[in-house]
Amino acid sequence: EPNSMLSITVVGASGDLAKKKIFPALFALYYEDWLPENFVVYGYARTKMTDEELRNVISETLTCRIDRRENCQDKMEEFLKRCFYHSGQYNSEEHFLELNCKLKERESSKLSNRLFYLSIPPNIFVDVVKCASTKASSGTGWTRVIVEKPFGRDLESSRELTKCLKQYLTEDQIFRIDHYLGKELVENLSVLRFSNLVFEPLWSRNYIRNVQFIFSEDFGTEGRGGYFDNYGIIRDIMQNHLLQILALFAMETPVSLDAEDIRNEKVKVLKSMMPLQLEDVVVGQYKGHNKGGKSYPGYIDDPTVPKDSVTPTFAAAALFINNARWDGVPFLMKAGKALHTKRAEIRVQFRHVPGNLYKRNFGTDLDKATNELVLRLQPDEAIYLKINNKVPGLGMRLDRSDLNLFYKTRYTREIPDAYERLLLDAIEGERRLFIRSDELDAAWALFTPLLKEIEENKIMPELYPYGSRGPVGAHYLAAKHNVRWGDLSGED
Ligand code: NAP
Repeated sequence: EPNSMLSITVVGASGDLAKKKIFPALFALYYEDWLPENFVVYGYARTKMTDEELRNVISETLTCRIDRRENCQDKMEEFLKRCFYHSGQYNSEEHFLELNCKLKERESSKLSNRLFYLSIPPNIFVDVVKCASTKASSGTGWTRVIVEKPFGRDLESSRELTKCLKQYLTEDQIFRIDHYLGKELVENLSVLRFSNLVFEPLWSRNYIRNVQFIFSEDFGTEGRGGYFDNYGIIRDIMQNHLLQILALFAMETPVSLDAEDIRNEKVKVLKSMMPLQLEDVVVGQYKGHNKGGKSYPGYIDDPTVPKDSVTPTFAAAALFINNARWDGVPFLMKAGKALHTKRAEIRVQFRHVPGNLYKRNFGTDLDKATNELVLRLQPDEAIYLKINNKVPGLGMRLDRSDLNLFYKTRYTREIPDAYERLLLDAIEGERRLFIRSDELDAAWALFTPLLKEIEENKIMPELYPYGSRGPVGAHYLAAKHNVRWGDLSGED
């Protein structure tokens, strides 16, 4: 639209996330012609910088990906020319008024749409929202604000944050980002289920034995544990990323693909769940470990972490959805740092084949013969289905094989970063992948009593060696619900 101007203000532009993710994502959108014809990007932070200095900083992190080689350098130059910087305090209405003047100048008399990305620590969210909304809102078009996690640290603080934000913004203006929802395979989850006849009919307690949501990192906090120690793995990964994926996985068919229809269904899932019980949770913390002549530090060896910290760096949990579709099906979550591998995946284990004709060909362990559907979200995106197959030859030997959709071999295009999709959605007003207030509230309601109990009683985490498969307790927890962790079967 030639008569409108989009301005994107990255608040906290001097920070890590802005450099690593937001500016590169904006450039990627620009390169692929997703941004409107008229746009400017403003960096805002306290650090003193000129426009030129900001451009130098961000030019270091913009990338020309393989499928983006053509005149990439020229495009970068063009993009950087549209980037500007304004230095100011986060609680100064005056400084936001100055920003407003600069934005107005660039907009001349065009209709203006303004997007603010809050890439700052949570204690200043409300200050910024207040100043930006009162002094730097668009007078003619929309004003939207993207907010990064953490959205509070329990039900109470999250409600308080929402209440404060809503003094200045309507629900429609708030875009709470959960970057897991921007991942290609999470987007594909609903496509897989709702556009293939072979999956949706199986999507219930009748055929699914259990579902597992697994997140593991193969490194620890490595000197950056200050932020983490205050939150722990349950808040950092489970209550948001894994629970969001669970809700998407388990929801009923939405009326349409509209954001409100989808979010309505997700909220219903969350409201059908009981708050987590301590007996269905295992917490762990990694300890130092020597391996192959190399020593790996424990969590409390991190100088930014208190020596007596009992913050979990690992947690496993069993959750249940009390509705007709999922009654009795364990939904297991597992998240941990400093484990043996780095990945995020959803694993769906199906029931045994009743009266299986080939029972004796599997020996005694029928678990080895169950079908399993795996969606690997990262790295190396893939969808594969474990099936039983006859080993070629004259005898009748069966084994488990994979029907495998490996993205790298199937699609040559590189997969966009989650932030690209989410920024574009925010610009287009698509709210499907952002967290609505009532969803957030329901998510905290499930985890808050557990977090309180762990913290008030200082529950000791089970120690596990850096680089290991995590605490043994996770196996017992799964076994209690008749489950084996799919990622530990040694098959993949
Ligand atoms: P950051 O680098 O610590 O902070 C961003 C900017 O905020 C800093 O450059 C600094 O700018 C300002 N700032 C930092 N501490 C401040 C304080 N105590 N008071 C006032 N201003 C302060 O954070 P980040 O890693 O970029 O992350 C930004 C937000 O995204 C955070 O809320 C974080 O929780 C969330 N997040 C980050 C990641 C990630 O990968 N890094 C992932 C998910 C979510 P000036 O000093 O120049 O003003």
